[in-house]
Amino acid sequence: MTRREVIRPSELIQRKRDGGELSAGEIADLVLGYARGEVPDYQMAAFCMAVYFSGLSAAETFALTDAMVRSGDTIDLGAALGRKVVDKHSTGGVGDKTSLSVGPIVAACGVPLGKMSGRGLGHTGGTLDKLESIPGYRTELTLDEFVAQVREVGLAIIGQTGDLVPADKLLYGLRDVTATVDQVSLIAASIMSKKIAGGAQAMVLDVKVGDGAFMKTLEDARHLAEMMSELGRHAGREVVCLLTDMDQPLGAAVGNALEVQEARDTVRGHGPADFTELVLDASARLLALSDLGIDAVEGRRRAEDAVADGSADRAWCRWIEAQGGTADDAALPTAPIVREVAAPVAGYVSALSAVTVGNAAVHLGAGRRTKEDVVDHAVGIVCRAKRGDRVEVGQPLAEVHARSDAAADLAVCEVLSAYEIQDVRPAERPVLLEVVSRSERGSGFEPGS
Ligand code: URA
Repeated sequence: MTRREVIRPSELIQRKRDGGELSAGEIADLVLGYARGEVPDYQMAAFCMAVYFSGLSAAETFALTDAMVRSGDTIDLGAALGRKVVDKHSTGGVGDKTSLSVGPIVAACGVPLGKMSGRGLGHTGGTLDKLESIPGYRTELTLDEFVAQVREVGLAIIGQTGDLVPADKLLYGLRDVTATVDQVSLIAASIMSKKIAGGAQAMVLDVKVGDGAFMKTLEDARHLAEMMSELGRHAGREVVCLLTDMDQPLGAAVGNALEVQEARDTVRGHGPADFTELVLDASARLLALSDLGIDAVEGRRRAEDAVADGSADRAWCRWIEAQGGTADDAALPTAPIVREVAAPVAGYVSALSAVTVGNAAVHLGAGRRTKEDVVDHAVGIVCRAKRGDRVEVGQPLAEVHARSDAAADLAVCEVLSAYEIQDVRPAERPVLLEVVSRSERGSGFEPGS
């Protein structure tokens, strides 16, 4: 009897459901069996729910990550380029277009960045959907084209290829529709398997915290950051985690083309304050992790210079054009209806719910309600007033960009409900809440180890 024939998913699900521990071999059998199509969706969904309630130990989380890496190909981008390669990933939020601005800034500073991005999930947007709003932009490159572009242009951002961590592609879709996304070990294994298989030696991970994020509290976000750092350490990768605010949308724009425009404005030095701060901080830390041999203070100086002297914007144009897109902002799609959301009372914005704005954007068509939905790249919301801003009665809080009057009416009500306005200015909450960093090299966490 072969090993494959002895997998009994129901026994493993039951043991996990009852709080027991699975061996690395059992987890590998389950995950690799699922990736090969031998374990059906309903059993994997039940397993994810058992994990949701019972959790995974550190050893089980390592085994899950390892099995996911082994489900497909791995690339060694560093070896292909003969350079240390850095990467960045976010756990997902509303208005999070950080990679779009960080990529060209880091590339302009002479550090190659090759990134595989995903699509939007639930109320959170995906980098790939944003990039597809640029006419002509090709999100699907072959691995050879991807490596060649990173070598020649210094930057490529593509969709996850089918051969890289196929288990995550399948599992992610399943978790999205079975309410099992927001489990720390499952998120850590999903992100780190992609980063390990993608070959970057050092990475900045943006862990979002707040009502618009999967991690609602700082404590949960810290736990996720520590777990991902530990997975990275075992794999011999340097990991810096930024815990960042997602209680309100990041920047002003939420919606694909609107976010691309804001990311470009930021690369030119005209971005919203909170978004600009995160972009410059993440860029500085990536430069400090790179082979330039500089610290984050010097990294910040170089990132600011790249924005100020126009080299980051030139890197934007080279990147977008190399990937088949047009760098002309006027070519971005625009919505036929733009409606203002007026402040009903005067006061200070004390809260701006990220999840409510994210859902309003999805209802406008900027995201998907089912996997089959087609994204409308033109629609979205621009939050003109953010937490702490003073507003007068009738002043625009936000703009809704809609395809129809009915969609605009609904979105105006939803966006209005996201705002809380009070007499007193709320306490300041910076975009960067905490940094979790661990850079010692591990003994190596290679497939099969
Ligand atoms: N992003 C990922 O890539 N995976 C998760 O599970 C959550 C966010």
